[in-house]
Order: sequence, then C-alpha cells, then structure tokens
Amino acid sequence: MGDLAGKKSLIMNLKDRYAVFGQPIAHSKSPVIHQIFARQTGQSLEYTAQEVPAELFSTAAKIFFSQGGKGLNCTVPLKELAWAFADHKTGRAQLSKAANTLSVQADGSILGDNTDGCGLVRDLIINQAVTLKGTRILILGAGGASRGILAPLLEQSPQSIVIANRTVYKAISLADEFQGKGSITGCGFNDLSHSQFDLILNATSASLSDRLPPLEAGLLAENGICYDLAYGDTPTPFVRWGWENHAFKSLDGLGMLVEQAAEAFFIWRGVRPETRPVIELLNLERRKNQD
Ligand code: NDP
Repeated sequence: MGDLAGKKSLIMNLKDRYAVFGQPIAHSKSPVIHQIFARQTGQSLEYTAQEVPAELFSTAAKIFFSQGGKGLNCTVPLKELAWAFADHKTGRAQLSKAANTLSVQADGSILGDNTDGCGLVRDLIINQAVTLKGTRILILGAGGASRGILAPLLEQSPQSIVIANRTVYKAISLADEFQGKGSITGCGFNDLSHSQFDLILNATSASLSDRLPPLEAGLLAENGICYDLAYGDTPTPFVRWGWENHAFKSLDGLGMLVEQAAEAFFIWRGVRPETRPVIELLNLERRKNQD
C-alpha cells in the first residue's frame, strides 16, 4: 500500500509542469481549460495558477523554470515583463512587444510568444463565422491587447482599421507603428462621428470596472458585429451596447480566451485540442451561475 502511494507520488512528480502567473489570478479559468485540454488529448501534465506581482515576476519565473517547469502563461500585468524575460521571441511576440506564453527550448533557453491575436482571429473566423476580409474595423483601446491583435487582424486583409483611444497620442503612435501593413489610423473617441464600422472590438479595460468607452450611436454598420475582449459571468457593458445598437452579434472574449489557451497548449505539447466543447462547457457553467 505504502509502495503504491510512493509510486503514485513519483508519477505525479514526473508530470510536466505548467502555470499561469498574474495578479489578480484567483478568477483565472486557465487551469480548468488546460486540464480539459490535457484530458481530451491524453496528455499528462499539471497546470496551476500562481499570484505573482510585477516586481517578483523575474524571480518567480526563474525559480519555476529552474525547478523543471516547462511553460508559463502570463497575464495582466506581466505580459511586457514576460516579453523582456524571454531569451528569444517569435515574430508575433516581437510585433506585440508582449508575451503571454513562455516555453523552455531544448537548449534551456526561453522562447516568448503571444497567442492572444491568433486566439481572437480564430474565435472570430472559425467559431463565429465572421468575415474579416474587406471589412471596416474599429478597435477601442491602445494598450497591450490592442497591440497584440493588430498584426493577426491586418493579415486578414480588412479594408481599414481605426484605433480609437482615450489618450489619443497612444492610438496615433500605435497606428504609426503598423503603417505599411495595411490601412490603419489612430484617433480619439470624439473623432469617430459620422464613421461606420462592420466590426467593433473593445480592447479597453473599461469592462473590468463595469464601464463603457464613450461611444456614439450610429457607429455600427447594419449587420455589424461587436466583440468585447473582456469577459465576465454577466454580459459586459459593451456587449449590452452592441445589443442596444442592433448588432448582428455581440460577443465577449470567452472564445478568445479558450483559443489563445489552445494555441499555447499546441506550442507546448504539439497537439491541437478541440476548443468548441470547452467554450460550450464554460458558457453552460456561466448560464448556470446566472440562474
Ligand atoms: P491595458 O491596461 O494595456 O490597456 C487598457 C486600455 O483601456 C488603454 O487603451 C486605456 O486607455 C483603456 N481604458 C481603460 N479604462 C478606460 C475607460 N474607462 N474608458 C475608455 N478607455 C479605457 O490592458 P490590456 O490591453 O492588456 O487589456 C485590455 C482588455 O482586453 C482587458 O479587458 C483584458 O481583460 C482583455 N483581454 C482579453 C483577453 C482574452 O483572452 N479574452 C486577452 C487579453 C486581454 P488609456 O491609454 O487612455 O489609459
């Protein structure tokens, strides 16, 4: 009996270890998502959530990897620090200047990647059947998330992308960085009058404090789509704004969350999990919590 327990604990210790670091982290759905992916694909791994403040990130990451950790996800407020921590960066991480996925390479070095933009585009195109080619896209916000989604969106050849931000110069300078990759401009919320968009993406963090960026009615074209990168147990103010403005679909970022996790899982394990059942399960749990 003691022998069996010993063997079991040895097997547990042999599991590849992954974690998500962030602050706050208690609300994170990443451990559940990765455990479902692991079951679904027959992979044996451990994935935990660890509260790590920005000032301790580098030390915590070094300890994690020196103790044999295979990969880390990093969330708010650590993505820029994770990018700086990585020895090498993928092209998409380099463009976004933020990393949400770190992996140990064969030579022990750390590769930084950013799967957020790819997660958003996969959710829009594959799960929601949204066409991006030739569309007029408005992105609200010019922070890390906005930076991370720009290149993958531009790759889909939209007609134009406008970035609107509360602090106007940030929107203008972010748009400037991506000049030459497509039609992209930056402005303030007040400069949007008389414009119409087929897709409005809320990449501000306003939803996290239950607020809505200052948006005029009439911004959304007929059959237009609203997508809030934030997600919660109840519809965000921006999702509700979409409904009030007759959006064809008004979605939140739960699908993006699962898709960016699936891309990280693929990077680490070389297997692509099925995302649709996981999104359905999380949506079902959310509906149950609302009842
Ligand atoms: P940042 O802190 O980097 O940027 C925040 C942005 O929001 C800034 O542009 C800021 O404007 C703007 N902002 C904040 N409050 C308001 C407000 N009340 N009204 C108008 N604008 C406001 O955050 P991130 O870019 O990292 O994250 C943005 C959102 O994306 C968050 O809600 C996050 O949860 C979500 N996200 C979701 C993911 C998913 O998988 N679903 C993945 C990544 C992010 P200013 O510059 O003027 O301060």
